[in-house]
Amino acid sequence: MLRLNHVQKAYGTPEQPIPVLHDISIDVADGEFCAILGPSGSGKSTLLNIIGVLDHPDAGEIELGGVPIDFGSATEAARLRNQLLGFVFQSFQLLPRLTAWENVALPLLYRGTPRPERKPRALAMLDRLGLGERVHHLPAELSGGQRQRVALARALIGDPKLVLADEPTGSLDSVTAAEVLQLLRQLNRDFGVTLLMVTHDRGLAEACDRSIEILDGRVVSDVRRDG
Ligand code: ADP
Ligand code: MG
Repeated sequence: MLRLNHVQKAYGTPEQPIPVLHDISIDVADGEFCAILGPSGSGKSTLLNIIGVLDHPDAGEIELGGVPIDFGSATEAARLRNQLLGFVFQSFQLLPRLTAWENVALPLLYRGTPRPERKPRALAMLDRLGLGERVHHLPAELSGGQRQRVALARALIGDPKLVLADEPTGSLDSVTAAEVLQLLRQLNRDFGVTLLMVTHDRGLAEACDRSIEILDGRVVSDVRRDG
C-alpha cells in the first residue's frame, strides 16, 4: 500500500539545513493499522505531511499502491489527496460555519460528486459512526469526541485507501481518546482501510497492530502485534 525509500527532509536554508528526517524507509501493507511513535519534534507531522502529499521530500521515494508519487505535479498531488487519501488531525479542522453533515460532504464537493448524492452519503456515514442524531449541529455544538467522529466521517466519505491521522486523540481526554482509538480500530476492520496514526503516546501506539518508533528522524524500532 505504502512504501517509503530513504526519505529525507530538512528545514532551514541550503546553507544551514536543519535535518528532520534522515533516512526513513517503511513498508505498510494493505489493511494494516500502524502507529508512528515518537516524541514531540521528532518529525512525525513532517513525515505524515509528505506521505499525504501536502509537502515533498528532499530525497528518497514514496510509492502509493505501487506507484511512485510525482511530487512535482500539483494536479497529481490533488488527485491522490482526493481519491486515495483521508486525513484526520488533532485539531479536527472542521469548518465552524458548516453543520456536521456539510463538513462530511466537503470532499465529495471537491471530487465533483453531484449535489443530490452528497447529502445522503454524508448522513449515512455519520449514522455509521454513531452520530445520526447530530448531523445538523455545528462543530461548536458538539463534544470533542463527536467532533473527531465528524472528522473521521469526512476522512472516510471519499472511500480512501489510506487514512492518515496526526495525533487524532491529542486534544481529547483519556476516556474519549480510548473511544476514538476503538473507533479507528473498528473502521480499520469494517472498512478495510489502511490506517497510519502518528502519536507521541506509547500506550496508544502499542494498542495498534504495529508501531514504528522514530527518534531524531530515524526508525529505531518496528514492532508487530497479533491483532
Ligand atoms: P512532531 O510532529 O514529531 O512533533 P514535526 O514534524 O512537527 O515533529 O517537527 C519536526 C522538527 O521540524 C521540529 O524541530 C520543528 O520545529 C521543525 N519544523 C517543523 N515544521 C517546520 C517548518 N515548516 N519550518 C521549519 N522547521 C519546521
Ligand atoms: Mg506533530
